[in-house]
Amino acid sequence: MTEKTQLLYDRDAYLDRFTAHVTDCRKDENGDHYHVILDRTCFFPEQGGQTADTGRLGENVRVLDAQIRDGVVDHLTDGPLRPGETVEGRIDFAHRFSHMQQHTGEHIFSGLVYRDYGFHNVGFHLSERTVTMDYDGFLTVEQTRSLEQMANQVIWRDLPVLVTWPEPEELALIPYRSKKEIAGRLRLVTIPGVDICACCAPHVRHTGEIGVLRVMSAIRYKGGTRLSILCGKRALDQAVLESGTLSALGRMLSCPTEDLALQVQALMDREKNLSAALEETRLSALMKQAEQAACGRRNPVLTAGPVSEKTACAAADALLMRHPGVCGVLWEEQGKKRVILVSNSVSLRQAAQALRGTGSFKGGGDDACIRGQTEWSADQLEQWLDAYTKG
Ligand SMILES: [Zn+2]
Repeated sequence: MTEKTQLLYDRDAYLDRFTAHVTDCRKDENGDHYHVILDRTCFFPEQGGQTADTGRLGENVRVLDAQIRDGVVDHLTDGPLRPGETVEGRIDFAHRFSHMQQHTGEHIFSGLVYRDYGFHNVGFHLSERTVTMDYDGFLTVEQTRSLEQMANQVIWRDLPVLVTWPEPEELALIPYRSKKEIAGRLRLVTIPGVDICACCAPHVRHTGEIGVLRVMSAIRYKGGTRLSILCGKRALDQAVLESGTLSALGRMLSCPTEDLALQVQALMDREKNLSAALEETRLSALMKQAEQAACGRRNPVLTAGPVSEKTACAAADALLMRHPGVCGVLWEEQGKKRVILVSNSVSLRQAAQALRGTGSFKGGGDDACIRGQTEWSADQLEQWLDAYTKG
């Protein structure tokens, strides 16, 4: 049996370089990757909802992922290493530290949620882009904002984050949070007065290193709440991005950022009124076209341009008042040519079947009305209808 890997991150989350012996190296069954086993490692393997550390072994071999099975860490690499050789490992510490900030922030928030509302953290996901926590109870917007304030107070008090391995009899007296039963000696992470939680991941030493915690979203999820947060550098990067976007919008609308919502609302109202007025103009133009459609045409088809489906239908009905055959309107919607055909005298259900047979129409309906998409022009469609109704 393979010896368990010595987990260096367990005792020192800040250690970013180490030397180790390669005990095994195998080519991955599918692809160009390798599975490398070391006697000890700094690489935190994916577990508990948190993705793995990345970095290098030696100068040229990149560690892309790490998994743990029965206490053995399996490093997925893009190159081979020789069993027996000594290798220097380096983790990507910027990536690790970001995870430490997010993860410790999660402890503070979940500790406060449990302390004040008794809800448990029943799901956690931490990757490059997202940090989400699921709680088994619903938090209102006000409660969430108040928890965010309290979490930041905890951060700014710069409390120590203590890692201990209590004896079983000691542990029996400690009220700690735990997501699952953990076999073996339990590792407790304590933020005094805020949270005690069983956890195997790397954390910051003092809460002040988290800097800031922002709640980005909170939604109802499986009878509870799913929260998304950002801590430290990620929170700063996001704030910089947001203020850049807000400044650009403010320049476009010539207003201070705090007035943006009002300005955008006014623009949207104006756009809605203009669209309604334009639609009315188009409808009356179409109605005129319908009136003027030459009497000699048996199956007139009009081209309406970019109107709403409602307007196209109204124009088709207006045509039908004057023409006994098939009447149609072609209009444009999101770059697609749409068509409606109506008739009181021709079975359009059958006509639709024949039309689909041409390969230039997709759609259907009932005997009185069919709708769909076509590649044809109004003239082509009218010619086809004339031939179809003659035959
Ligand atoms: Zn933790």
